[in-house]
Amino acid sequence: MASPNKKPMLLPALFTMKCPSCRKSSVFLNKSIFPLGKCLALKDECEVCGEKLKSESNNGGGINYALTMMLFFLNLLWYWPIFGLSYKDNSVFYYLATSTVVVVLLQPYLMRLSRMLYLYLYIGFGHSRRVSVED
Ligand SMILES: [Zn+2]
Repeated sequence: MASPNKKPMLLPALFTMKCPSCRKSSVFLNKSIFPLGKCLALKDECEVCGEKLKSESNNGGGINYALTMMLFFLNLLWYWPIFGLSYKDNSVFYYLATSTVVVVLLQPYLMRLSRMLYLYLYIGFGHSRRVSVED
């Protein structure tokens, strides 16, 4: 599947945090989100294609907010069938608390994903001139 001349698929590359231009090399310094303090550290440039990855305006903050809110309500999908929701008791508040915990725990990953989405919006495939691909 991974022939060197084939264009790697967009979504797998996005979710495995690969460079938006060549989709081969990871854009983050650390593969894991730990240590948390460095979980958003980007490489200066891609080691495969040389695409510049660091940009002053790259924070993905707005995208992160949207993803966080989306996930917050997506938690309803599993919480409702398992624990049930009713306006008659405090279950709505339990849901809100649970959902908040889930969102906070996943926050490092969401922040990385937002940063990735931001990069993918601004850098198309083959953006770097060092990439040669037969399409
Ligand atoms: Zn690259």
